[in-house]
Amino acid sequence: MSAVVIDGVAAARQLHAVLRGAVLDLVERGATPGLAVVLVGDDPASSVYVRNKVRRSVEAGLRSFHHRLPASTSESDILALILRLNAAEDVDGILVQLPLPSHIDAQKVTAAIDPAKDVDGFHPINVGNLSLGASALVACTPLGCMLLIKSVRTDLTGLSAVIVGRSNIVGKPLAQLLLRENCTVTIAHSKTEDLPSVCRRADILVAAVGRARFVRGDWIKPGAIVIDVGINRIERDGNQQLVGDVDFEGAHTVAGALTPVPGGVGPMTIACLLRNTIEAACRRRGVSSPLANGAD
Ligand code: NDP
Repeated sequence: MSAVVIDGVAAARQLHAVLRGAVLDLVERGATPGLAVVLVGDDPASSVYVRNKVRRSVEAGLRSFHHRLPASTSESDILALILRLNAAEDVDGILVQLPLPSHIDAQKVTAAIDPAKDVDGFHPINVGNLSLGASALVACTPLGCMLLIKSVRTDLTGLSAVIVGRSNIVGKPLAQLLLRENCTVTIAHSKTEDLPSVCRRADILVAAVGRARFVRGDWIKPGAIVIDVGINRIERDGNQQLVGDVDFEGAHTVAGALTPVPGGVGPMTIACLLRNTIEAACRRRGVSSPLANGAD
């Protein structure tokens, strides 16, 4: 058997086209959505992520407000900026790029963002609402994973889902989304015993570990949907290469469907950020959302 490769670039392109239409609709109603992105310091990976987010939001027709602050910025100055952005009428979404410098309490900063503008979905109110099954802005990477899973199978009822990784930004919110879809969900982590056997039970297997090619082909149930969230830079033949948390070659012969790295979950994360910004703009401005909520 050879897995269907789930093309995240094509899925994101499709979503961007829908989002562009939604933005035009909002612009016509005089409600152009605005996204404020805050970058503190000059971490090279964060700078690349922020540049891509800003570029994509401008391409989609959003107003983009980029706040680039030196690494020495104090916590109180960042909190003051968040308060200004919370109050700004033309800002619908606020994203503070993580990680923040060590002298800044990231949880405090996240909690200071107006939950209605929390397009990263990290605010405790949004996290809580998600787990209550109530309306929430949902973290972008898990939302992107769900859209990719549903692109190959619409009804997930009764399926066994295993997520390897229990982070607040990927594993835990994704578990909530899969529960909503009536999956039986297992969250595995570094203390899980006999991880290969746990993975082999999964009809849907998600790897969010941060270890290159960690999940082997023989850990995968034949026909499973495999979502690889990992982004790992490795050196091969003297060149830098980007690989996921799944051994793609090994998984490809066993899985039913599989996301590649790069070109899988990554592009969907940015598309979902824009989607959340449009959703937030509609809610704040009392406009009905032109987007179908693929995660609900
Ligand atoms: P974290 O480091 O926050 O979490 C990693 C998780 O993996 C932890 O729960 C950890 O367990 C678990 N883990 C580590 N080692 C093992 C092991 N040997 N066996 C089982 N579980 C293990 O990572 P993130 O969730 O932030 O990110 C995961 C990966 O996804 C990274 O590669 C990251 O770069 C990528 N990523 C990609 C995004 C995208 O847009 N494509 C967005 C966000 C992340 P424990 O809790 O016990 O320590």
